[in-house]
Amino acid sequence: MRTPITEKINRLKIKRNAVILAHNYQEAEVQDLADFTGDSLELSRKAAQTQADVIVFCGVKFMAETAAILSPGKTVLIPDRHAGCPLSDMITAKQLIELKSKHPEAVVVCYVNSSAAVKAESDYCCTSANAVEIVNSIEPGKEIIFVPDQHLGRFVVEKTGRDMILWPGYCVTHAAITEDDVKQARAAHPGAIVMAHPDCTDPVKAICDQILSTGQMLKFALNSDAKSFITATETGIIHSLKKQNLGKEFFAASERAVCPNMKRITVEKVLWSLEDMNYKITVPEQIRIRAKNALDRMVAILPAK
Ligand code: SF4
Repeated sequence: MRTPITEKINRLKIKRNAVILAHNYQEAEVQDLADFTGDSLELSRKAAQTQADVIVFCGVKFMAETAAILSPGKTVLIPDRHAGCPLSDMITAKQLIELKSKHPEAVVVCYVNSSAAVKAESDYCCTSANAVEIVNSIEPGKEIIFVPDQHLGRFVVEKTGRDMILWPGYCVTHAAITEDDVKQARAAHPGAIVMAHPDCTDPVKAICDQILSTGQMLKFALNSDAKSFITATETGIIHSLKKQNLGKEFFAASERAVCPNMKRITVEKVLWSLEDMNYKITVPEQIRIRAKNALDRMVAILPAK
């Protein structure tokens, strides 16, 4: 819907030659404003491909950093400078260096939900969609350090049979979804398919029907003949799912699964970001190059589809 504020944003987008990217966990009105919505890596790839000079990244800081790593020369803005990610903050580069010093032969795989400095200390980056394939590609017998999400890490251990050293980080939003929430949602919506994100805890994953990343949930719902679904992930995904699947029903396993950092971005802040060219996300070149190596190694194993 066009409103005075969205018209102002559109005029500024033209003036600045800007593109607006929004993660699937953003507020519905922010998603509707965006040129592209998707998961963090899809959006970073969009950022790298765009001819725009300015990228307004509606998400959290590590996502805007990933866009900046892949898009040197473009201006990457985040509309709220306090939109961080507690999971990515659970490990610092210093802590990872210390862990590596205890396991000098280990290969380091880091979830994309990590800072640029942690990516720079890693051999491979991965997403929740491709973590299993990345770990499977590592030479058998090699020691593997996996950071920072223990729940995604345990899911990968189970799928690959590889015995990894896991960092005890977790996503506070996904960890807030309980087994009871899923049971109650199933009772309220009999027959609905439960899709859980790999960042959820083991008891939740044990009773779901499908374990899927956000991008995989969108594809699965689109291709499924089922008519109703329960999502065990951040509730913002429901907006994208409903938009792409008219006639199907989607329910959140828990209304508590709201990431306060994702929800910091508002339509007004997107306007102010374009007006004032704030807040610029930059990554020091020596970190950017090393972090990009970890992302490039992931893409070399799994080329972009
Ligand atoms: S949903 Fe979890 S992983 Fe994603 S930004 Fe929020 S805290 Fe971080």
